Amino acid sequence: MGNRVFDPLDDGQKAVVDQFRDFVRINVRPNAVAWDESQTMDRGVIAELAGKGWLGALAPREYGGQDMDPFLWGAFCEEIGSASSSLLGLPTVHGMAIQSVARWGTSEQKTRLLPGLASGQTLGAFALTEPEVGSDAGSIQCQAVQSGTNIRINGQKQWITYGQIADLFVVVARLEDKPTAFLVPRNTSGLQIRPVKDMLGFRAAELADLQFDDCEVPIECMLGQPGFGFSHVAGTALDHGRFCIAWGCVGLAEGCLQIAMQHSLERKQFGKTLSEHQLIQQMLANMLVGNRAARGLCLQAADLKQKQDPQVIMETSIAKYFASQHAASASRDAVQILGGLGCSSSGHVERFFRDAKVMEIIEGSNQIQQIIISRHATMQYRKNSRANVK
Ligand SMILES: Cc1cc2nc3c(=O)[nH]c(=O)nc-3n(C[C@H](O)[C@H](O)[C@H](O)COP(=O)(O)OP(=O)(O)OC[C@H]3O[C@@H](n4cnc5c(N)ncnc54)[C@H](O)[C@@H]3O)c2cc1C
Repeated sequence: MGNRVFDPLDDGQKAVVDQFRDFVRINVRPNAVAWDESQTMDRGVIAELAGKGWLGALAPREYGGQDMDPFLWGAFCEEIGSASSSLLGLPTVHGMAIQSVARWGTSEQKTRLLPGLASGQTLGAFALTEPEVGSDAGSIQCQAVQSGTNIRINGQKQWITYGQIADLFVVVARLEDKPTAFLVPRNTSGLQIRPVKDMLGFRAAELADLQFDDCEVPIECMLGQPGFGFSHVAGTALDHGRFCIAWGCVGLAEGCLQIAMQHSLERKQFGKTLSEHQLIQQMLANMLVGNRAARGLCLQAADLKQKQDPQVIMETSIAKYFASQHAASASRDAVQILGGLGCSSSGHVERFFRDAKVMEIIEGSNQIQQIIISRHATMQYRKNSRANVK
């Protein structure tokens, strides 16, 4: 999408981005409205993504993945996000499951689960949110109790993206009062999956609520140690989720700019094209500058991810915060520039507008990102002040 001022991709990677772009042009953009209207994701497009190895691209090579470079993965999310946020939800949550297992799994768990996740034969999802607990995720109430060699889970999880079709859930529950992650296969008895319909955005992302009633899994399904569920496993998963959403927002905002630009050049009012009216130019300029800034922050996060720099977590929060806020603003402006047409469900911008609002809430709402960013900045400031006094 768009002009890249700074482009870290080499020629081989650019050729792969061309493949992403062709895939989106042929398979995603023409169908995104229909998926949104039917509130279901086409199984064919999921199979195509899996077949190309893109769903599990971040899994380690030794388990059948591609260890995909963060810049390339960012470009992938950007391209998918430019056409369908609902589809973007799949590599996001599937990747959250992959990252959780790859980072915190035992070698037995990795050998058993990663090949299926890497090939896309097994679809993963991530279940943290509950009816009473959202932003304050460390306070989850779902209970896990050890019973012999099994773990018995009771409680509820809410709004789980791709929960309707996922084969494997990373579930965070309290074990002896410590948030702990578990790998729960879909067909486990005691797990009920209820489809969620009619959300504002992400309408084709197959959301589900999960009900656990004495749902038993072997103790080998524990992922990481007791107490690691929120601080470690969810930390890894959410960092990945924010990275995907930040890049997806760049794509969404760029999609808005392209549509708004084309419309403003074609549509005439008061004897001249919309693009010649200064108030429209102001919106177009803000959209373009915001897109550049959001992409710059995403590139910064990708660079740190590639270098495995611990600062990446903060830079990813910053990128997600800015990019989602900008996507919401760009989609609002795109609707404005298209006028009544922008309010019609037959085009893309009305859907972008609804999906962009969701981007400001998921993977840690923007208020939570602001809290994280400002706490970190304060800590850095104090540290630097102390160093300067010495
Ligand atoms: C489409 C969609 C898909 C989702 N997919 C998943 C998924 O796959 N897995 C999953 O686990 N969850 C998922 N969620 C849930 C999502 O992560 C939560 O909605 C989100 O974390 C916010 O929690 P909440 O909705 O309970 O809002 P609350 O936590 O109740 O917050 C409500 C409002 O208060 C603000 N707020 C909260 N605390 C503070 C504070 N300390 N200071 C200032 N403001 C505050 C929030 O920013 C928000 O604006 C999904 C949600 C949606 C809408």
